Amino acid sequence: MISNTIDMLKNELPLEQEALILSGDVKTGLVLVDLVNGFCTVGAGNLAPTQPDKQISEMVDESVRLARLFCDKKWPVFAFLDSHHPDIPEPPYPPHCIIGTDESKLVPELEWLENESNVTLRRKDCIDGVLGSIEKDGSNVFMDWVKTNQIKNILVVGICTDICVLDFVSSTLSVRNRGFLAPLEDVFVYSCGCATYDLPHHVARSIKGALAHPQELMHHIGLYMAKGRGAKVVSEVSVGASC
Ligand SMILES: [Zn+2]
Repeated sequence: MISNTIDMLKNELPLEQEALILSGDVKTGLVLVDLVNGFCTVGAGNLAPTQPDKQISEMVDESVRLARLFCDKKWPVFAFLDSHHPDIPEPPYPPHCIIGTDESKLVPELEWLENESNVTLRRKDCIDGVLGSIEKDGSNVFMDWVKTNQIKNILVVGICTDICVLDFVSSTLSVRNRGFLAPLEDVFVYSCGCATYDLPHHVARSIKGALAHPQELMHHIGLYMAKGRGAKVVSEVSVGASC
């Protein structure tokens, strides 16, 4: 897509971003959405980037930075891992992140999370992480994590900005608004800590049934819609002096 068009759309959908200063006084939980090889590692599968991708690699770098910060302070971290049974497809997507394959594993830079006591890992087989956290007995692993840790703010990073991140944020805000997530107050989405995939129109039109998905534009729209649903979109995350 020509950059003029993107600039024009960004003018029509302006996204003002804030800065988040983390403080030990306000309990904040970090949510990592699908930082698995199948979405982040070049050549790892049907939904992985086919070549090095700046937006995705920056998203991984920023997610690692925040994960280290939260783990150093023993603050709560929740990580979703997209994982599918080989016999249960997820239309309209091609097979991806099959359980037991490298695709459904955390990216190498985050594998150490598996050994951290403050981290909750959750495999999910659907786009929406809140829905994907429901257990057979009706309990919800994500909602329990918020309540058990008395989380007031959630900071979200991951992939894809306009798919799994957006759906997770939207559901979390709906559940909060219904009064089921006390003491949760705010959901922050870190723009540099999110990314989406790139399927430009000129490529998509040569693939039967494919839907064009220009990366920069869809990332912007994902953030814009998250903000429209009530999330706070931030372009900076830093640690306050009291920490
Ligand atoms: Zn999936």
